[in-house]
Amino acid sequence: MNTTTATLPDSASHTYEQVATASNEVAGLLAKRLKTETQGEVLFSTADRGRYATDASIYQVTPLGVFVPQHAEEVATAMAICRDLKVPIVPRGGGTSQCGQTTGVGLVIDHSKHVRNILNLDLQAGTVEVQPGMVLDSLNASLKKHGVWFPVDVSTSAQATLGGMAGNNSCGSRSIAYGNMVHNVVGAKAWLSNGDLLDFSQFENSTGRAKEIGEFVKQLAVHHQAELQTHWPKVLRRVAGYNLDIFDNQNERPYTADGKVNLSHLLVGSEGTLAMTQSLTLRLSELPTAKVLGVVNFNSFHKAMDSAQHIVKLGSGSLTAVELVDRTMIDLSLKIPAFAPTIRTAIIGEPEAILLVEFAGTDKEKLKRELKQLVALMGDMGLPNSVVEMVDDAPQKNLWEVRKAGLNIMMSLKGDGKPVSFIEDCAVPLEHLAEYTDALTQVFQKHGTKGTWYAHASVGTLHVRPILDMRRDGPLKMRAIAEEASALVRKFKGAYSGEHGDGLCRGEWIEWQFGPALQQAFAQIKQHLDPLNLLSPNRMVNPPKMDDTSLMRFGNNYKIIPIQTALDWSAWNVHNDAATEQTTLPGTGQDPAQGLAKAVEMCNNNGTCRKFDTGTMCPSFRVTRDEVHATRGRANTLRLALSGQLQGGLESPEVKEAMDLCVGCKGCKRDCPTGVDMARMKIEVQHHYNEKHGLQLKDTLISNLPRYAHIASQWPGLMNLRNQSPLLAKLAESLTGLSAERSWPEWKKNHFFNGPRVGVSAEEVLKASKPVVLFVDTFNGYFESENAWAAHDVLSAAGYQVHIASRTKQDTPGQHLCCGRTYLASGQVSKAKEHAQALLEALLPFAQKGIAIVGLEPSCLLTLRDESLVMGLGEMADTVAAHAVLFEEFLAAENKTGKLDSLKVKLAPAQKPILVHGHCHQKAFGLMPSVTHVIQLIPQAKVDLIESSCCGMAGSFGYEASHLEVSKQMAEANLLPSIRNNKDACVVADGTSCRHQIMDGTKRDAIHVAMLLAQHLIK
Ligand SMILES: Cc1cc2nc3c(=O)[nH]c(=O)nc-3n(C[C@H](O)[C@H](O)[C@H](O)COP(=O)(O)OP(=O)(O)OC[C@H]3O[C@@H](n4cnc5c(N)ncnc54)[C@H](O)[C@@H]3O)c2cc1C
Ligand code: SF4
Ligand code: SF4
Repeated sequence: MNTTTATLPDSASHTYEQVATASNEVAGLLAKRLKTETQGEVLFSTADRGRYATDASIYQVTPLGVFVPQHAEEVATAMAICRDLKVPIVPRGGGTSQCGQTTGVGLVIDHSKHVRNILNLDLQAGTVEVQPGMVLDSLNASLKKHGVWFPVDVSTSAQATLGGMAGNNSCGSRSIAYGNMVHNVVGAKAWLSNGDLLDFSQFENSTGRAKEIGEFVKQLAVHHQAELQTHWPKVLRRVAGYNLDIFDNQNERPYTADGKVNLSHLLVGSEGTLAMTQSLTLRLSELPTAKVLGVVNFNSFHKAMDSAQHIVKLGSGSLTAVELVDRTMIDLSLKIPAFAPTIRTAIIGEPEAILLVEFAGTDKEKLKRELKQLVALMGDMGLPNSVVEMVDDAPQKNLWEVRKAGLNIMMSLKGDGKPVSFIEDCAVPLEHLAEYTDALTQVFQKHGTKGTWYAHASVGTLHVRPILDMRRDGPLKMRAIAEEASALVRKFKGAYSGEHGDGLCRGEWIEWQFGPALQQAFAQIKQHLDPLNLLSPNRMVNPPKMDDTSLMRFGNNYKIIPIQTALDWSAWNVHNDAATEQTTLPGTGQDPAQGLAKAVEMCNNNGTCRKFDTGTMCPSFRVTRDEVHATRGRANTLRLALSGQLQGGLESPEVKEAMDLCVGCKGCKRDCPTGVDMARMKIEVQHHYNEKHGLQLKDTLISNLPRYAHIASQWPGLMNLRNQSPLLAKLAESLTGLSAERSWPEWKKNHFFNGPRVGVSAEEVLKASKPVVLFVDTFNGYFESENAWAAHDVLSAAGYQVHIASRTKQDTPGQHLCCGRTYLASGQVSKAKEHAQALLEALLPFAQKGIAIVGLEPSCLLTLRDESLVMGLGEMADTVAAHAVLFEEFLAAENKTGKLDSLKVKLAPAQKPILVHGHCHQKAFGLMPSVTHVIQLIPQAKVDLIESSCCGMAGSFGYEASHLEVSKQMAEANLLPSIRNNKDACVVADGTSCRHQIMDGTKRDAIHVAMLLAQHLIK
């Protein structure tokens, strides 16, 4: 065997250019064959290719096309077609890589949608075989009942796939206890680019081609023994290059417990460049049933770093994490009301840094003793009374949440300067951690930037991202900082790539790290396994330069097309100062799209919107699992449109398609780490679309409902005919697109607005001792008047003088007040503004007096705190917003100041358990605790919150025939089954459309919380 030479097939730029300019003929042929030979999805439109051109890195490389296989065998078919046509292949999971691993030329194969099953769970052997598209959290959720888990707990566990994790050799927060991916994979079945399907497992039992590959790599390892000894970083966290050291272990922790070589470890960390994984066999660990946490407070960052090396020696095997939170993150967390109380439970005085030290196992008492050892150690190190001991589970869980959120806050910096990931996972031996972090901080200062430090102190991998402006001098600074950081890594004998892999960002550093001889060995491995150079070419071998701007998302040619926006996006239109993180005034950021482009660019592709477990984001992705229907897919589509990379811009059919299943739930506004607010963007986009294409009949019909409601309600018999006649319903569907399967809200002749007048006058409420203004919206006023009366009764019973808000100008007689929501839903911003203006004028005098304005329908009331502030309505919008509260929010706040005593004594005990479904906008504003708080005013109330995303009705969304199925699937994900499983419960839902969906899907009446309280009033 020749182990000294390898032909390096081509240069990086050559391949990129060659494939980028691949003729339409090749692309056409590829798409045609995929369509005829498979049943998978073949996505070759500009928008689809654009959406798969990025991952959580700074890069953008447009693929020739995307293939989403229906099942594993189709991957082999796609590979065969690519082989015939000489088209490179880029395997992909969740696309959350930070170094550009999944951005590449050729055909992207997305495993995450369908190829995601458990193939074999062998509890006796303690292993599980999974398909590569399976998401870690979903695997662990199904393992939980067996008391085991797969312990490589990456922060992206809710969206990262096991194939992607193996591809990157990912590492979790608890790697000190469990190791990296390579330590936990025990087998892989994978296709080579020539189509051979091989079993990569224990070398000594291998046969055929797998055995031959093993022999080849073994000889390379023998041949390069000297280089392996001298150049290979001796730390746990080394993920660069190929794992040539499987035959001559260099890792702090041997790859296998018995010292036997496992060939699957050659594929782990190879980033899809050697073989395409068909399945992985993973070793499971016992799920810890007990945990304790010690939070060590340090008055100097240096001391914290210096202490890590001593702390990791504690616990005789039970120490599972030592995680850093620095002063900047503590400060940021203290500024957020939701996190401040939690972080206060962890800090003593004003520490410069804290270390979260976790011990886990099965015996809490034993762990408590180990926690005491930590306390003693800190005392010995001159830090007595520096440890906050957390023994109960709840405070520990809360603190881990803050640690995660800290990263999110850091990433939400507005303006063109962003924290950039390129040296964020260098790993150094623990004894040098303090010196390394000090020196790197100075490097940042020298280049006029700064970084916030966090994460894995236990294994010497501290995350840090300097803030750089990648459109201006960012690439230059990136190179300079990378070079200085690498010198430090070399000085301290660390690993330059310690967690996030190589990709486009660190490929060029492989030779720097390992030397030319080992680089040559890697090239030989690549050529031996993939002589066709088909699998993700030009990564670890022949890589591009990390600062090649032609491969970047915000490269030299990136330009925003000027547009006039309907909403005010100036809050995003700012510049920031990398060194101080201060931003300039709104509107000063020189965005030709008036801030909209910068708001869209906040999406850094981290993929949190692909999660399924908690929160609301993103209901449409949860149903379809299509990239286009995730918040990320939408944000990328908008970025392409705004920057001229998508013909037709915001008015294009591609943008319309991407926005079509967005239900405007605002889940992303709250759950997206960088606050991408797609619901607001949808309004803006629809406005532009309407300007070019005009309104649809259904939009006119629904949006004008508040205008004609007073007339329609006079003819309920006629108006409700459609609900009684299937024929009329069908006719209406063909005319309007509103599904015949859905009933429409029933009109009533007698409703709140023409019923008996209740409440005190405006003059009286302004002088009242316990004043409150009730804003009754169109839906509760006309269709469910009982809610409005109930709210009035409850507030009155609590001793408030209630005034019902009404129009001040009688220019439109008979009309009630309206926030404009129905117009916003179809992008009619100017009409919405007219209505909102009238509403604000009516409410302003009360708000100016500090009187609370209480609303019932979350989407209407919260419009006052959201969209009203960006429609150019001036200061009055801010004044009213400051006093606009939901019914439950008002009562919860009043109760906390002891003002509801008179109400509480009038409430009869609850007879049934109470099940609550939150409206998405309630959740987006963090208001669900108020709902449960208020329900608990009822004696003996037993409340359960349904863990649900959007109900799927979302205003008119679920009424539309084209959305009916998706709407039902959203409801069936969690909401409706939970209600069906709780037959005796009383269901509370504050949203009109949520109640409708619940009725349609379960034939159960859900009620507003105001109604629930009113029903419990003792008469
Ligand atoms: C906010 C944030 C936090 C993160 N935290 C962590 C962390 O704590 N620890 C950590 O290690 N990483 C972390 N990462 C990086 C990233 O999330 C992980 O590497 C993750 O495991 C990637 O999973 P994925 O499904 O997104 O893989 P992808 O990005 O889709 O793919 C990863 C690699 O695997 C290859 N691949 C995918 N499927 C196959 C297949 N079937 N066959 C062969 N190759 C395949 C791809 O080509 C690519 O090279 C973080 C990223 C972000 C954005
Ligand atoms: S929309 Fe938000 S959560 Fe989704 S990828 Fe973009 S930044 Fe991440
Ligand atoms: S508003 Fe809701 S549906 Fe739309 S992108 Fe955000 S989370 Fe998804």
